[in-house]
Amino acid sequence: MEQHGKYPHLFEPLDLGYTRLKNRVIMGSMHTGLEEEKGGLAKLAEFYRQRARGLAGLIVTGGIAPNKRGWLTPFGSKMTSKKEAEMHRKITDAVHEEDGKIAMQILHAGRYGYHPFIVSASNLKAPISPFKPKALSVKGIYTTIDAFSKSAKLAKDAGYDGIEIMGSEGYLINQFLSKRTNKRTDEWGGSIENRSRFPLEIVKSVREKVGEDFIVIFRLSMLELVEDGAVWEEVVYTGKILAESGTSIMNTGIGWHEARIPTIATMVPRGAFAWVTEKMKKELDIPLVATNRINNPVVAEGILSSGQADLVSMARPFLADPEILLKSKNGKEDEINTCIACNQACLDHIFQKKTATCLVNPLACKETEYDLSVRSSKKVAVVGAGPAGLSAACTAAELGHEVTLFEKREVIGGQFNLASKIPGKEEFLETLRYYRAMIKKLGVKLKLNAEVREEDLKSFDHVIVSSGVVPRKLRIPGEELAHVIPYNLAIEHPEKVGDKVVVIGAGGIGVDVSSMLLHPPVNDHHDYYNNYWGISKEEDIPGNLAKEHPEVSDKQITILKRSAGKLAHGTGKTTSWAHRRSLKLAGVDYKNNLTYKSIVEGGILIEKSGKEEFIEADTIVVCAGQEENPVSQKYITVGGAKDARGINAQRAIKEGFEAALAI
Ligand code: SF4
Repeated sequence: MEQHGKYPHLFEPLDLGYTRLKNRVIMGSMHTGLEEEKGGLAKLAEFYRQRARGLAGLIVTGGIAPNKRGWLTPFGSKMTSKKEAEMHRKITDAVHEEDGKIAMQILHAGRYGYHPFIVSASNLKAPISPFKPKALSVKGIYTTIDAFSKSAKLAKDAGYDGIEIMGSEGYLINQFLSKRTNKRTDEWGGSIENRSRFPLEIVKSVREKVGEDFIVIFRLSMLELVEDGAVWEEVVYTGKILAESGTSIMNTGIGWHEARIPTIATMVPRGAFAWVTEKMKKELDIPLVATNRINNPVVAEGILSSGQADLVSMARPFLADPEILLKSKNGKEDEINTCIACNQACLDHIFQKKTATCLVNPLACKETEYDLSVRSSKKVAVVGAGPAGLSAACTAAELGHEVTLFEKREVIGGQFNLASKIPGKEEFLETLRYYRAMIKKLGVKLKLNAEVREEDLKSFDHVIVSSGVVPRKLRIPGEELAHVIPYNLAIEHPEKVGDKVVVIGAGGIGVDVSSMLLHPPVNDHHDYYNNYWGISKEEDIPGNLAKEHPEVSDKQITILKRSAGKLAHGTGKTTSWAHRRSLKLAGVDYKNNLTYKSIVEGGILIEKSGKEEFIEADTIVVCAGQEENPVSQKYITVGGAKDARGINAQRAIKEGFEAALAI
């Protein structure tokens, strides 16, 4: 084994006979939205080029449909013609120029498609699509198998080193594999032998078309997390026949998109599903890939060194930092911009039909749009070391400016310090570690405990103010009473919060505060997560779905929202449902569409549907949003100082970044 410092297993090459991966890290499939954008493939080529240069062992593209019926959304990307294959040359050439390897993922959405021409194993509507699928006829099945293999051959012609067949997460192949969605009575339904015929024929047909010297990854659903999902024996059966029929590498699929359990969000512990890959590794003779919430080299090395998997897949971590592996190899882990699993700028953007980017790295997927060349050096002051100020200061320093960063507190981080105290959001500490390392590396002069006066700023060419926000006041009678406290105080001093709590505000902050008050300190995050959400490790439980056991504190929490609408409004689509479910499981009461009449000793008086109601509370936590810290108009403002309405970390970091670029 070649020795590579702290990560000998991570940087060990993998020889597949006809080809060799330079390390054990796959950059996992992730749709960016550039696939469908006009001129997007050139941008995508640069995006992948940078990740290949950053040492990704094998890149897997976002899902590309094998035919129109397989589209996830109308006019999605597909690989069905020589012309389309030719257009992908840009991507494969860019990756090969950097000595990288790239595989194209073939994804047929089946009933998850968002268009009226969708097909599936049976005509059962998915809970997450408004369209009802047509059950594929036997002829349609063979046509679809053919489409997969043609697509694979075109991918090979386009210069790809391999393909990944998406057989998990509830997409078409998974719909054939599962009793939940396959109600057929012909040779494609019923027994597991019949249900697995569809992926088997796809793999055989693909292998026949592409020959032996081509990587074929199959992403198999190993833990479905839905009712009527597979039992372990079925998963092993399918894994074995696929491994014997031409699959080069088996990837681990976790959970269907319609599952009620979060599988990649920040509340999921790191490496939460490596145990599943480890189990399958005992059954198969081909390399296996562990996935989900592997976001740093230490976790990845741990999985590989303990023999749980042969490869690890990281998708979002490469969005957050294209050089995650290069920095690991060079012993510069402190400089890794770690993915915090927020989904806010990647997956949430895709759901909003926007191009993906990254909350902690606004450059992601915009590599060709921003000019990062070094400028002539100016003296730049940044006031406030919250996320926007940190982003502005480090970007300005990277562009060659001489930067002084003033912070009135004794630490950097602003609102990130609060966020990191919320259970499941500890990853924010990684962002602060990253900025501390960058401040040092880039020579930013950091002045802590610094109250800045106007005259302190006179000698600078440019001043960027990122003085952040203050909690918004309620402006209702009784708000001055002692049992009414703002959210920042509740987070910093949870001991000040009693047992009967009213939380005013049902957005992200209200949800975070409630979650923090309910969750006890935990020793084993993996067990806690599995128990809370009901993930069973028993082999004979369909879909590994058990009853949820939310272990929470005895506090009684009522969340109030003045207007109508759902709890967790304003949080992203990919995580808001999980917040709502988590709080419901924990017994939180939610009331909306009401008027606050007054706060009195022992509670709050509201009016709902024309009736007055008294809600008992020993503590009322105000999570009613934020207001700007007033700032002189003559400076450049960013983040909450510019506009506190709806401010979030993504906007703050992006504004800081762009303000520095504009100098
Ligand atoms: Fe990770 Fe959040 Fe960036 Fe997505 S937006 S890659 S989840 S840090």
